[in-house]
Amino acid sequence: MKVTEQIFYFPGINFDCNVFLIKDDSSGELTLIDCGTGFFFDRQIQRISQDGLDPQNISRVILTHVHFDHSGGLINFVREYSPEVNVFHLEADSIEKGGNGLLLAREFGLEFTPTKVHKRLKEGEIIKAGSFNLEVLNTPGHTKGSICLYDRNSKVLFSGDTVFTYGSFGRVDFPTGDSRQMIQSLIELSKLDVQYLLCGHLDIATKNANEQIKLSVKNARLWV
Ligand SMILES: [Zn+2]
Repeated sequence: MKVTEQIFYFPGINFDCNVFLIKDDSSGELTLIDCGTGFFFDRQIQRISQDGLDPQNISRVILTHVHFDHSGGLINFVREYSPEVNVFHLEADSIEKGGNGLLLAREFGLEFTPTKVHKRLKEGEIIKAGSFNLEVLNTPGHTKGSICLYDRNSKVLFSGDTVFTYGSFGRVDFPTGDSRQMIQSLIELSKLDVQYLLCGHLDIATKNANEQIKLSVKNARLWV
């Protein structure tokens, strides 16, 4: 479903993360943010087509972090559409080498298929996707290499599992997770001007998003 004219939201099925697509109005190219587990790939493609988008135009994939519920489906998109794969530099090796470690693939009952990473993202880097200038923000806590993507102009924040769903935050008990860093990352996010809070799971927020992030900070302080 449409969040804005250029951003499409595909709510996660079962354990899958939410998946987002950004459309470049001039070239028609699509940037995919996170992939889900891959268990529901056919349904994902069906939904994308139903929204009037051509999945053949998926030219880039960005992962917010490498947990299997975000990365498991990457191989399907790579095989079908050969997109450029973008992963934060701290987690890129997990995608290229596989294994369990950070990926948590076995927890989801599958082996991860290693895939080439074309671009190792750095903190502060800007990714141009259509009319958006997505700033890469490293927000450690859920994992050390977790990122959020922020566009200042349109006040859009793709939060991955740092803000798991609005008002909440991601688990900190997985490998490289850290509760203090989580609180600090959420505090940093709460300083941003956000209208569209596009979370890694469950519901997203399209208004009062700043309040929701402040609530995440409050909840993280209480619970971790
Ligand atoms: Zn995660």
